[in-house]
Amino acid sequence: MSKFLSLEWFKDKVDHSIEKVIEKKLDALINEQNEVSGKPYNNAMLVNDVLTIVMNDGSVITKSGATQDDFDAVNVAKNVAELYSIVSDSNVVSERVEEEKKLARLKALREGLSILKESGEFTVDGDSVYFKGISRSLPQLLVEELIDAVADAKSLNMPLSNHVEYQSLKRFFMWCALNPRVEVAHELYRFLKENSFRITKQGFFVALRNVVTLHGSPELVHFISNAYNKVKAVWKKSPDDYTVFLENGEYKLVHNDSLYREETQTSTTCKYCFGETGWYEDEDGWGDEVWIDCDTCDGTGEVEEYEYTTSVKVDHGEEIGKLTELYLDLPNRHENRFTDDWTKTFDIRVGKVVNMPKESCNWSTQDCAAAGLHFTSDQIHYVGCGDQSVLVLINPMKVVGIGKHKGRCYEYLPIMTVPREEATSILHDSQFDTLQLDEEYAIRELENLEIKVQEGFVSETSKYEFNLPNVSSSDIRNIVGSLEDMKAEIRDRVVSLD
Ligand SMILES: [Zn+2]
Repeated sequence: MSKFLSLEWFKDKVDHSIEKVIEKKLDALINEQNEVSGKPYNNAMLVNDVLTIVMNDGSVITKSGATQDDFDAVNVAKNVAELYSIVSDSNVVSERVEEEKKLARLKALREGLSILKESGEFTVDGDSVYFKGISRSLPQLLVEELIDAVADAKSLNMPLSNHVEYQSLKRFFMWCALNPRVEVAHELYRFLKENSFRITKQGFFVALRNVVTLHGSPELVHFISNAYNKVKAVWKKSPDDYTVFLENGEYKLVHNDSLYREETQTSTTCKYCFGETGWYEDEDGWGDEVWIDCDTCDGTGEVEEYEYTTSVKVDHGEEIGKLTELYLDLPNRHENRFTDDWTKTFDIRVGKVVNMPKESCNWSTQDCAAAGLHFTSDQIHYVGCGDQSVLVLINPMKVVGIGKHKGRCYEYLPIMTVPREEATSILHDSQFDTLQLDEEYAIRELENLEIKVQEGFVSETSKYEFNLPNVSSSDIRNIVGSLEDMKAEIRDRVVSLD
């Protein structure tokens, strides 16, 4: 595996980026603020062996049998909890801390619900929370995450429509609500959370599975799919700005700014007459052209030597193509052919959707040997054998079952091959930002969505295999409408890049 492909290589390159510098400055600022915010208590004294601490709110806590060490510890305590732990014996403290945590959580949740209400996007009815206009309630875990996102947007003074995490959670839920299987829709978020799956900006999730390589040398597929997705997810840059070259037997990635280099050259050729010494001109407008000598060079075509810069193509080796075009063309490349180990019948290509008929999927939640396309987050050894792991995008609407560590769906999109050494870590890596990965897939998924959804519900009803969720056609219309907003957003973004 070439070093140019690894997550580490991509991460190395961002360490000095402007974003990183700002992030470090912010961290430093936050630490500084915590330090200047002052002592967590008003006054403390040690008289004989009695330690007395007067808190900022005027209350007093004491400890008898205290030592000079206790007193010194008070002096450097950073918060109230630390003070309590100095004066109390450890059992009492841990109970108190647990109790405080529980209370804090409840309080945060109560405050959170009012933050949600305030945002105008939700209806809160007792303990149940709904997106306005959609009658399916939100699972508790998702409510907590949404509260965090809404609170974060509020603290940044940012409209929710611009808050990426908020949008991704909202869209994720919308896709879930379109899944005819109510348990899957309700449990999926918990399952994804417990198993460290990652959600994308358009509400899909990223998973892993193994495949079997059919052709001997898919190096170009590895290079292009890794470069394309890591440029987006790690560098947060557009793949449109990069070109792929082959040099000394290795693929390499070149930013468009580095395709040419400015070179200083010298010349004595007159810039005014281009060295022609003069030109013909029709002076009186009657068609009689006469020769005029160039004033700038006195009709010699030569001037004193001067410097000028020019763009020269840099030799990066053989140009393979533009990164985005190569990525979109991957399904057409012969070396991009994989299959599944179990049936050896699926045609699996990076960049091309893999699916099986919904009707042939078994919709059970327990049995993971059941029919369907299997996926996992990092328990990659469970998900079929094969010589190659691939990263796949999955629409929550198309999940048919979830087990303990892996799930099944009837459709997924393989977006890149994953180096073996990254298979267990890539979805845990905070610098691999999956929010950036899914635009092309989103556009495709939105085509004729309402019709597809209605058909899905109808065909599932006819099977009577399980309880249908309480989703009305007006719900479906509202959900589809909400998801379609992303179409305009993606289009705007794409246009603004041109
Ligand atoms: Zn001249």
